[in-house]
Amino acid sequence: MIPIDGEWNCVERLDAHDIEVDGRVQCEFCRTAIRWIHVLVHDEVAERRFAGCCCAARLCEGYNAEESERAFKNKCDRRVRFVDLSRWTVSRTNPTNIFREMRLPSGRVRVVIFLKDGRYGVVISDLKKGSPTFSPGRYSTRAEALVMAFELFESMKGEQ
Ligand SMILES: [Zn+2]
Repeated sequence: MIPIDGEWNCVERLDAHDIEVDGRVQCEFCRTAIRWIHVLVHDEVAERRFAGCCCAARLCEGYNAEESERAFKNKCDRRVRFVDLSRWTVSRTNPTNIFREMRLPSGRVRVVIFLKDGRYGVVISDLKKGSPTFSPGRYSTRAEALVMAFELFESMKGEQ
């Protein structure tokens, strides 16, 4: 049984390049090759299904698939620029730490990826007020910490 149009919900969006080595994913409804995946769920279907923009728009009532995809794509582009190591500076006092300065609506901040007890952490500090915000976790690789730093930074953008 194939559930009817309009009864699906989109729970998240993914970049095919993040989940497949060759970056190739097909829409499970129309078999079109897609880069930007809308992950759909349905009450009567056990598995999550991957859909492209057109199918997601048709299957999910009231879901602006095109706008969501554009916002997600922009966020992925920001993440690529954020984690680009050429934009980071190695700390002179502690060469295992890297940092960069970024702008938030509230002012400039310094984002630091630090290594402590063999695990990477993230702290974002306001350059004027100095108030630090730490990531909740510690990470085993610097790459992982960079992605978490991006998520933390993005969440602080919305808090102003
Ligand atoms: Zn499709």
